[in-house]
Parts: sequence; C-alpha cells; structure tokens
Amino acid sequence: MARKILLAVDLQHDFIHGSLPVPQSELVIPEINKVKKDFDLVYFTLDWHPLNHCSFKEQGGPWPVHCVHHTAGAALHPEALEGLEEERVRFILKGCVQGPEEYGAFVGFDPENQDLFAPGDEVVVCGIAAEYCVLETLKNLYEISKKIGFTVKVYLEGTARFESTATVEAFMAENGIQRY
Ligand code: ZN
Repeated sequence: MARKILLAVDLQHDFIHGSLPVPQSELVIPEINKVKKDFDLVYFTLDWHPLNHCSFKEQGGPWPVHCVHHTAGAALHPEALEGLEEERVRFILKGCVQGPEEYGAFVGFDPENQDLFAPGDEVVVCGIAAEYCVLETLKNLYEISKKIGFTVKVYLEGTARFESTATVEAFMAENGIQRY
C-alpha cells in the first residue's frame, strides 16, 4: 500500500539554538507539526558527526563543530516528536564517518536493499537548512525515486534557510518536483 512519508532533515539543537544556528529555524517546528498528522510515517535525518569530522574548521572544513554524535547539540528538537507514535518514526543518521562531507542523507543508498521507500509512496521533504542538507537530500531522493518509483515533493514552508530557497526551487523546477 502506498504511503505518505514526511522526511524532516536535521531538526537538531545545533542548527536551531546551538553552534550553527540557521535564522528563524525554530519556526519550522510548528509548521512541520501542523502537517504531521497527514503522514503515515515521519523520517528524521540526523547530522551525526565524529569529533574530528572533515566539515569542522579545525579539520579544514567550513563549519564550526556541530552535531557531534551523542551530544546535546545533536539532539532532535524536543517538539519534533510531538504527536508521533513510535511506530510511525524512523531516524536516519548521516555524516557518521570522518569524511567525506555528506550533506545528503542518502549518499550511497542502495535502493535494492532497504525498507524505507516503496513503489507508489509519496515522500515530502522539509527541514534545515534549505541550501545544504535539504537540497542535497532532495537530489539524492529524486535519483532514488526514479529507481524505486515513488513521488517526491517539497514542503517549502517547513524549510529553514540561511538566505534563500532559490537553489531548492530551481532544482524543483528543473525536475518537475511539486510543492506540498
Ligand atoms: Zn554536519
């Protein structure tokens, strides 16, 4: 049976009030909470880095230390789970090894050996931050969707951005991806 899946990218403390805050990102939590009841499943991606991750400035990367695994900074926003029963929730960890950087949650994903997505599903992407992890996750997912045969949409009201969602909207327009 086709399912509606909400894929919420990186709703984590460090991106909201922590070491790498994205402007007004706390506002996406209530936006996402408004629509969760319309979905069969909600998948949360989590940026989940080792302390020496290649994206950190100390390692020559562009970012301050953020979302170090098993720290408070990597925690999901407490209200993100509101109203969700455990059986509707999955967590998808990314950036778990030292390098390379993985903005997308499905780098190296094997469509033949997984139980997250099925033919006919509708997968709606939202989260933090539009220009980086949302965009790259959307690109990963779009490629996977063609192999498995599901639909991808973007919930723009549920995305936070450093500056703009223009790159996300351009990718949507190029590939015929609809807004949710
Ligand atoms: Zn990261």
